[in-house]
Amino acid sequence: MRFDALRCFGGAVLLAAVSSPAFAQGKDVNIYSLRQTSLIQPLLDAFTQKTGIKTNVIFADKGLIERIAAEGASSPADLLLTADIGFLTSAVDQGIAQPIKSATIEANIPANYRDPAGLWVGLTSRARVVYASKDRVKQDTIGYEELADPKWKGKICVRSGQHPYNVALLASIIAHKGEAEAKKWLAGLKANLATKPAGGDREQAKAIFSGQCDIALGNTYYMALMASNDKQPEQQEWAKSVKVLFPNAAERGTHVNISGVVLAKNAPNKDNAIKLVEFLTSDEAQKLYAELNNEYPLKAGVALSTVVKSWGELKADSLSLAEIGKNRKRASELVDEVAFDQGPNS
Ligand code: FE
Repeated sequence: MRFDALRCFGGAVLLAAVSSPAFAQGKDVNIYSLRQTSLIQPLLDAFTQKTGIKTNVIFADKGLIERIAAEGASSPADLLLTADIGFLTSAVDQGIAQPIKSATIEANIPANYRDPAGLWVGLTSRARVVYASKDRVKQDTIGYEELADPKWKGKICVRSGQHPYNVALLASIIAHKGEAEAKKWLAGLKANLATKPAGGDREQAKAIFSGQCDIALGNTYYMALMASNDKQPEQQEWAKSVKVLFPNAAERGTHVNISGVVLAKNAPNKDNAIKLVEFLTSDEAQKLYAELNNEYPLKAGVALSTVVKSWGELKADSLSLAEIGKNRKRASELVDEVAFDQGPNS
């Protein structure tokens, strides 16, 4: 393991190095990932092949932002990879980010998917769509607003209102309609639920398959994951029972969230880290993201995967993710104010 002599002044550095033997302080890019390694490793391999720059990954499904904060100036972390605007804004709030400045990245990723100050950059997007029963839902268009219509009473399933995916959706509705309207909508949606919010997005498709509900909210990539799940083939049946409807397609567009990246404030290998982010926004990497993870590339002109294309065209809401990030706190409070997670009879 190599050390930069200056960085060896404090014992904390040594401690960090000892506890993370895979982490070099030389020129490798050190990544803390809240996304599963299998989702990103092929992209990192392609980067190493192209540039000769190696990468090291620590994966955990939580606690990595706090870890970088605790490691402070001696943190070996260069980049934090995560999904959801909530984690990206949390990284900024906890003071672990520094601006990413790159004309390449700014050219590749549209401004509404980047922090105005460059403190996070979106890499891919996913739409929060309606899963609708192929058998029982005749209509092929829908709007989020309509989910509060009493005609759906007892027919809607959704995961916890406090899940970041639903908080971000509600934050977008606050931005478009104002807080009072958003709260009214949320109460109407709650009144239409078939049952207390529970499970993940896939369980909502299962509930449609089993006849418990007709309509659910879910992220696009779960449809692809279910449809190709050979280990749990019952999930293929869940996916088959469901069609994807893109809410508000005819007007403001469908709410999307992002996966993205943060450059750590004390990144020891900043230049190579920025090279990696530039690569992740390139045609080559964006195509890999689309194929491997069935997400939407953010760089214009990159092709979608076959299964994603099969759902039809996504017209994404152009509201900036930064704006959504600002409204998250209020959205989370509204979820509690209407006791959303207590279910329809509360
Ligand atoms: Fe997810």
